[in-house]
Amino acid sequence: MRMTVLASGSKGNSTVISSARTRVLVDAGLSCKELLRRMALVGEDPDTLDAILITHEHIDHVTGLSVLARRLNIPVFFTEPTHRAWVRMVTPRTTMTYAKWLDHLQQEKEARAALVASSAAAAESASAEAEAIAQISAEAAVACDSLRSDDPNPTLELPPDPDEADADCDPVSAPKVKANPAALPAVEYFHAGTNFSIGDLDITPFTIPHDAADPCGFVFESRTEHIRMAVATDLGYMPPNVKAALKGIDVLLLESNHDLEMLRDGPYPWSVKQRVLSRVGHLSNDATAEFLQKDYDGGAAYIVLGHLSESNNVPELARLAAEQALTGHPSLLGNRVLLAQQGAPLESICL
Ligand SMILES: [Zn+2]
Ligand SMILES: [Zn+2]
Repeated sequence: MRMTVLASGSKGNSTVISSARTRVLVDAGLSCKELLRRMALVGEDPDTLDAILITHEHIDHVTGLSVLARRLNIPVFFTEPTHRAWVRMVTPRTTMTYAKWLDHLQQEKEARAALVASSAAAAESASAEAEAIAQISAEAAVACDSLRSDDPNPTLELPPDPDEADADCDPVSAPKVKANPAALPAVEYFHAGTNFSIGDLDITPFTIPHDAADPCGFVFESRTEHIRMAVATDLGYMPPNVKAALKGIDVLLLESNHDLEMLRDGPYPWSVKQRVLSRVGHLSNDATAEFLQKDYDGGAAYIVLGHLSESNNVPELARLAAEQALTGHPSLLGNRVLLAQQGAPLESICL
């Protein structure tokens, strides 16, 4: 069995998991073009992928999704709430930049105000105004929600339109893509807590505490090789169900997002700091170390630390915290700590 982390961090996440007969991609958080480039770099053949699995709809996990799925003509597995949230996010109305959206709201507001002003019935106009304001607030809330990502960009500009960036990657003609950017070759639903299989891979999705519609981590088990690999990033804390899911894992991709002091003193606005630190944000180096020290069973050959913040963490701090936490575990050969990177794929881990 093999795990290849193509990218990990708030600017994009994607990992290939392969068994003897089956290969899946967990998340597609870079452009299609960049994902294909990175797969080529590490010798992963994209044409042999069987499916794409999505953990949650944040932009750093889905940037290249639709273009890559169409290009490879493979199914995409989501939970239903995640699929719905993703479809809402990629529909044209919400792919405009935040600045354009505010302009749009302002224009609508002015048009409504003009309408209200010209209305003869004062009472009616007051209620129309209230209705218009309610409508605007609701739309703004939806827009802000759709723009959420793990890369807290204070300007709230969306990254370049992946469909545009990947125009020469996409087999579907441009007008059709513009008509339905959520078009996928096939969509399959799974439920957190309910096992399902793709080829000879048994997959157990588990709920993680994170501010998305229905976020999940995954345990993958090869039926023929009896090896288990897990992906657990984007979680605000380690709840009992995640601790239970991460028993008996041979290769564990685990979040170690930030150093608490660096986050506290770092450049993020206060609201973003609060979000990262919240129970639905991201695991700090300390929280990850606490899990490794107290709850982890010590049985993995490799622990890959991932989703490291580029602003609020240093790889060696994350490694140090994890390695110190692991000193209590007896295995000398196992528990090797690796660091997943944002800018380049990690060499494949084969067991
Ligand atoms: Zn996320
Ligand atoms: Zn993320």
